Amino acid sequence: MSTKATLNISEIFYSIQGESSFAGWPCAFVRLAGCGHGCRYCDTTYAEEPGTAMTIDEIMHRALAFDAPCVEVTGGEPLLQSGTFGLLSALCDRHPVVLLETGGFLPVDRVDPRVHAIIDIKAPSSGVMEHNCAANFTLALNEPERFEFKIVVASEADYLWAKSYIAGHGILGKCSIIFGPVFGQLEPRLLAEWILRDHLPARMQLQLHKYIWNPDTRGV
Ligand code: SF4
Repeated sequence: MSTKATLNISEIFYSIQGESSFAGWPCAFVRLAGCGHGCRYCDTTYAEEPGTAMTIDEIMHRALAFDAPCVEVTGGEPLLQSGTFGLLSALCDRHPVVLLETGGFLPVDRVDPRVHAIIDIKAPSSGVMEHNCAANFTLALNEPERFEFKIVVASEADYLWAKSYIAGHGILGKCSIIFGPVFGQLEPRLLAEWILRDHLPARMQLQLHKYIWNPDTRGV
């Protein structure tokens, strides 16, 4: 892929990585515009607004200038744009820690293997659970170190559904699984108690950036 290829960018910013096993690290974020998935609790709906066309060269220049210990490509849904695959590879050529955050409804098999992919599993309250891409589970079981799955839950019904779903797909106990509560909808203590009660081999996280800054702040 030519680094002159363009992608539609919502924003490029520098913040604290807030929701993955990399949470807490300073991170340069490249947010791609466009998703259309329509999750009910989406907190980046502004990524649906028209973005700015930028070449991979321009994106790399902006993102790498932050000199952050990790770089994350997110959205919106980054895998909707074909140029994302080239961007990820170009970033991997220049940076040792490149993350991808994806909504989990598209396959990640074409993603550069040097990328660490954080893949959502959508629970029932998202309204889009039937779109989870099961092919990604097979890929992750073969190379678990390259992937982690993030499940945002709004209720105990969501949690129980997710527990059964990841067990059914064989990834519970085999792949890295991170549960988090929908901010402002589910009390974190309840999710912690369910995970402890069930001795679930999964991590719990809070969206760190929403506790550091106002939860409606963009670009953090
Ligand atoms: S996949 Fe992500 S960006 Fe797209 S609607 Fe769902 S939460 Fe929002």
